[in-house]
Amino acid sequence: MAAARTMTRLLVPLLVAAVGATPARADRSTPPTSAIVDSTAQGGRTVSFTFDDGPDPQNTPRLLKLLRQQQIRAVFCLTGDNVLASPGLVRWIVAEGHLLCNHSTHHDDLSTWTPEAIRADLLETNAAIRAAVPWARIPYFRAPFGAWGRTPAVAASLGMQPLGWRLAISDWEPPGTEVLVDRLMNGITEGAVVLMHDGGGDRTQTIEAVGEVTPRLRADGWRLTVPARRG
Ligand SMILES: [Zn+2]
Repeated sequence: MAAARTMTRLLVPLLVAAVGATPARADRSTPPTSAIVDSTAQGGRTVSFTFDDGPDPQNTPRLLKLLRQQQIRAVFCLTGDNVLASPGLVRWIVAEGHLLCNHSTHHDDLSTWTPEAIRADLLETNAAIRAAVPWARIPYFRAPFGAWGRTPAVAASLGMQPLGWRLAISDWEPPGTEVLVDRLMNGITEGAVVLMHDGGGDRTQTIEAVGEVTPRLRADGWRLTVPARRG
């Protein structure tokens, strides 16, 4: 009996600590707000990788293989048009355990749109995603071009947390893998959400840079995680 009581005294605080530290729990139970989140929930030496404008038939499979190899869980911000073109890639992204982000239907600048028009567009994107993956969770929304306008409140009303970023590495240029590596190594700050792309062009350099940077970050004590659900 004494041993059992000792075990209970030891285990309960451990269990409480473990549950409190599980980000997936916060993802599921925390309602979104209209605050634009640009950080992880944990802070400290944590960073979150997010990939926009896919899925893309050339880049996304290569990126998914790299993320699996390096055991990185990331966020994919998808456009409805690309989802309709490559529904199988959406299923693959979800099967790998990554998180989905609505990035509008046609990658329009939504900054001047009415809430009603925004809502229709965001619902169209979600419908495309759920045609590929029924009941898919879509915890985030990111406005194309960072042109938020009235989108944050609409996204929150549809259950999606607006997702910004603290670091964008201009990988759309593209400037060369080593330049991207330098931009990541010099630009990443504690808790930062990082914006990169797996769509919109050849993203070989982005994928290579992620492959180089991740082991270096981990060697320096950094942990890769997902963004917070509120600001
Ligand atoms: Zn975009």
